[in-house]
Amino acid sequence: MSLKGKTAIITGSNSGIGLGVAREMARAGAEVILNSFTDHENDHALAAEISAEFGVAARYIQADMSQGDACRALVETAGGCDILVNNAGIQHVAPIDEFPVDKWDAIIAINMNSVFHTTAAALPHMRARGWGRVINIASAHGLTASPFKAAYVAAKHGVVGMSKTVALETAEEPITCNAICPGYVLTPLVEAQIPDTMAKYDMDRDEVIKKVMLERQPSREFATVEQLGGTVCFLASDAAAQITGTTISVDGGWTAM
Ligand code: NAD
Repeated sequence: MSLKGKTAIITGSNSGIGLGVAREMARAGAEVILNSFTDHENDHALAAEISAEFGVAARYIQADMSQGDACRALVETAGGCDILVNNAGIQHVAPIDEFPVDKWDAIIAINMNSVFHTTAAALPHMRARGWGRVINIASAHGLTASPFKAAYVAAKHGVVGMSKTVALETAEEPITCNAICPGYVLTPLVEAQIPDTMAKYDMDRDEVIKKVMLERQPSREFATVEQLGGTVCFLASDAAAQITGTTISVDGGWTAM
């Protein structure tokens, strides 16, 4: 499938799933706009590398997705977009009665409120262009819960609900809105937890992955950032024009249980 002629903003895309999604969209021919809250040389270098590798325009725009104004400014600085991928996200794990209020506020702001602000800013541009795709990276935790993840589960359920509402508000236009719900994905963040967990449980890498990390993922395999990127490209394609207001799970069967 080709995304030539389309411009995509991917929030939180200087690592992990966001970067993988940006690379797959660039491979499909889209102009990509990378984002995170930092403004390092490395961030801009990532965009230059994507541009050189895939022969597409690519840039990096710094914007802190915990701030509503910055979310909206990202979209305006980009000049709008055809495809908005809301991916930025953080996690904190604690029982609800001990959950730090600043962590709760940050997770709700970055994982959920940013989706409201970027979508509100992007829709008028999509309407002016006569085409649009809003693709939200939610989580299996947008459909199910786990203990100690109250803020994350609340935010991701919120994103799934918001996706349905945006889909209804745009249903008669050539614009769709959907949420992708990944299970565990092997990102640098997850990879970094493996050595400590190996030491903690006196297990080898394979045991840690299958018995600890992927305990709830029936395939006992991580999803990959390339698979997430491919799912985003599919939702952006013409084949997905009638898919709106729904979720696509990429979770090795987690939510089938
Ligand atoms: P990651 O930490 O590698 O990536 C998160 C991205 O968000 C980074 O680019 C980071 O810079 C960015 N970010 C964080 N705070 C930001 C802020 N204030 N402003 C702008 N950008 C900010 O993690 P990941 O695993 O790639 O996660 C990406 C998304 O996928 C998140 O929404 C996460 O909830 C979701 N997800 C991940 C998994 C998984 O197993 N890795 C599973 C389900 C859902």
